[in-house]
Amino acid sequence: MSILKNKNILIVGVANKHSIAAGIASSMKKLGANLALTYQNERLGKKVKTLAEEWEADICIPCDVSDDEPIEKAFDEISSSWEGIDCIVHAVGFAPSNELDGNFVDVSTREGFQIAHDVSSYSFIALAKAGRKLMNNRNGSLITLSYLGSQRTLPNYNVMGLAKASLEASVRYLAVSLGEDGTRVNAISAGPIKTLAAQGVKNFRKMLSYNEARAPLKKNVTINEVGNAAAFLASDLASGITGEILYVDAGYNITAMGNLEEAN
Ligand code: NAD
Repeated sequence: MSILKNKNILIVGVANKHSIAAGIASSMKKLGANLALTYQNERLGKKVKTLAEEWEADICIPCDVSDDEPIEKAFDEISSSWEGIDCIVHAVGFAPSNELDGNFVDVSTREGFQIAHDVSSYSFIALAKAGRKLMNNRNGSLITLSYLGSQRTLPNYNVMGLAKASLEASVRYLAVSLGEDGTRVNAISAGPIKTLAAQGVKNFRKMLSYNEARAPLKKNVTINEVGNAAAFLASDLASGITGEILYVDAGYNITAMGNLEEAN
């Protein structure tokens, strides 16, 4: 099965082999994609370069998405190797750790709000802008990663929930904006997975066991399951899908109440 054969796919957000972006890269590679990876900074670069070799990526370059200059530089470099891009995967999220620990009103700050929204939401629009010409008329797609905290509350997720709500709204606006280029825009709302970023949320381990016990499939999802869904969205099999938030969460989002035997 080579549903991504000859597709040039840029993946932003690999930090290590546990990253959701790593599951996506690995799945897309298996399905025939040509890969370009970016890494946030030199500290993470070494691990990402090793993974890039393993996946025989064509390109592996730095790109801090909190600034337009490195983004433009990265796309310049990509355009010197590839004549076009068929998919951009945005798997980036960040909020200062003090925002993700405690009562929402007490811990929220103006600065934390700005950083969370800039890095976790605006950066998706920035990548769409920078990549627009290279993606034009290729029936390509943009994919981002969200979480149910955009729609519902949970302890400690706080400002990230707001940033994810903004990100999901941007999926819809970008889908309309880029529809005329033939570019689709979708998000995957993944269930909780133990990654570097996730461990920044206080009590994340408890979230995992809570989720596992209450999801219809009685399990947590893996980066490979998210990777396979992303591969589908990037492929021509998903040519009719845009502006969509696809839940890959073992069904957790559909339940209002789990097991009533837990009640008194
Ligand atoms: P991760 O820590 O492996 O990946 C987060 C990535 O964001 C890292 O590669 C990091 O370098 C990058 N990043 C942060 N700030 C950046 C910047 N300024 N410039 C460039 N890159 C930057 O964690 P992950 O869980 O794989 O996160 C990927 C995405 O998935 C995030 O958007 C996250 O919110 C989302 N998500 C995660 C979960 C989960 O439970 N792990 C669930 C749903 C959605």
